[in-house]
Amino acid sequence: MLKIPIEEIVSKIKEKTGLDDSLISKKIEDKIHELSGLVSREGAAHIVANEFGVKLFSPSESGRLQIKNILPGLRNVSFLGRVLNIYPVRSYKTDKKEGKIGTMVLGDETGKIRVVLWDTNHIQLIEDGKIKQGDVLKIKQGYVRESRMVEGIEVHLSGNSTIEINPADVDIKKIPEMQAVISTAERVRIADVSEGFHQIRGAIVNVIDANPFFEVCPQCGKRARDNVCQEHGEVTPKQSLVVSTIIDDGSDNMRVVFFGQQASQILGMSAEEAYKEAQEHANNNYPIEAQKMKMLGKEVVIEGKVARNSFSNELEMVGRKILAPNYPAEAKKLLGEV
Ligand SMILES: [Zn+2]
Repeated sequence: MLKIPIEEIVSKIKEKTGLDDSLISKKIEDKIHELSGLVSREGAAHIVANEFGVKLFSPSESGRLQIKNILPGLRNVSFLGRVLNIYPVRSYKTDKKEGKIGTMVLGDETGKIRVVLWDTNHIQLIEDGKIKQGDVLKIKQGYVRESRMVEGIEVHLSGNSTIEINPADVDIKKIPEMQAVISTAERVRIADVSEGFHQIRGAIVNVIDANPFFEVCPQCGKRARDNVCQEHGEVTPKQSLVVSTIIDDGSDNMRVVFFGQQASQILGMSAEEAYKEAQEHANNNYPIEAQKMKMLGKEVVIEGKVARNSFSNELEMVGRKILAPNYPAEAKKLLGEV
C-alpha cells in the first residue's frame, strides 16, 4: 500500500504554511494525543496536512483537477465541470457596498461543487442565458473556501477569474453527461454531515478490531443466516467482509462502515484471502489487526449514505464508493520519483 513518508508530509506542510519543523511536529504530537494515541504518526500528519489544506496527492492522472480534489484554502483553482444547476441571481446590500451574486453547481465524474460569482461580467453570462444547464465550463483562477450558506466548500470567482463556456481546446466528452454527474454526491465536511448521501474526504484514523466476516448467499450476495438465504433457501454460504473505520477530515470524525467489495478495497484484500489468513491464525480478527497500521493515516474520498445509528445515536456512513486516492497511479508516480 502507498505510504507517503512523514518527512515528505512535513515538508509539504512547511512549504504551504511557512511553519517551522518543531511547530509542525508539535501539531502532529497534539493530534496523536487528541485521538488518544489511536492514530499512527503518519495518520496524525495526514490529518494535520488536511487541516492546513495541504494536498498530499497530486490533482489527477491527466493533469485536470478533479472536483473531489478541490480543497478548502486552495487559491488559483482551475477546473472543468458540467453545469448541473443555476440559481437565480440575487442582489445584496451591506453598509459598504451592494451588488449581485450568482451561484451555480458544477460537477464532474468525482463530485459536485458550488461556484459563486461576484463579478458583474460573469453574472451577465447567467442573466443573458449564455451559461446553460448542461454546458461544460472551464473555470480559471477561482479560490476555495468553506461555504457560509450551505454545508461544504465553494469555489468563488473574482474579477481575475475566467469562465469559458464549452471550451474548444478540451475534450468535453471527458466530463460525463448530466445524468451521470448528478448521481455523484456533494462533498461535505464531516462536522457538517447530515443524513443523506454525501461525499467526504479524510484520513483513516482508526479501524475497529472486530470479526470482519459474515456469510452471504453465493447466488444473490445477500446475508445468509444459518446457511439459509431468504430467497434461495438452503445454500453453502460464502464469506463476505465488513470493516468499520473512523474517518477524520480535520473538522470532525465519524464512523464509516464498508461491506463486501468496498470492505475488500479498504482492507486491501479479498474476503477469501482474509478468511484464509484468519483460519491460519485461528483468529477471525487477524486480518484487521494485521492490516490496521497500513490502513491508518490513509487518505480516502468516500461516497456513502449517512444515517443515524439507533443504538449509539451517532451519525454513521455506509461507504458505497471509494473514489480516491488512485493508488495504482499514485504509486507509479512515487516509484518514478524514487
Ligand atoms: Zn440468495
